[in-house]
Amino acid sequence: MDGAEPTRLAFLVTHIVQIKKNVLNQMIQHSQAQAPLECCGLLSGQDEVISDLHTMSNRVKSPVRFEMDPLELLLLFKSLRAVGDTHLGIYHSHPSTEAYPSATDIEESFYPDCTYFIVSLKDPLSPQIRAFQIEDHKVRGVEMIELE
Ligand SMILES: [Zn+2]
Repeated sequence: MDGAEPTRLAFLVTHIVQIKKNVLNQMIQHSQAQAPLECCGLLSGQDEVISDLHTMSNRVKSPVRFEMDPLELLLLFKSLRAVGDTHLGIYHSHPSTEAYPSATDIEESFYPDCTYFIVSLKDPLSPQIRAFQIEDHKVRGVEMIELE
């Protein structure tokens, strides 16, 4: 990500992420379909707008953590490159806890340029999604701007 310094700086200052409403709905649907296990996936788009969701399998099949399959990831990154899309976010669900990164989430966050989304199903009638940026073990809340 060379030459992207001004954009990156603006992002850090404002902590804003733009995301299509239907992507947020798909995130909730995937979380509910996989509950009580955690689900996970990648988010992509163009011009800093998240417009696509890619479900991934949680290879540890756990209710408290997730791990993406490296080969599945590789294939997805390849297909994103082929269509000129950028990897902008990662999401996973918390079937029974708050939408806040766990110690493991923070430990295993390898994409400081991405926005991390967590779907909480703690209140099954009212799923919550929160967005974060995780860099050097520091968690910052990111404001979501929902687009039609
Ligand atoms: Zn988590």
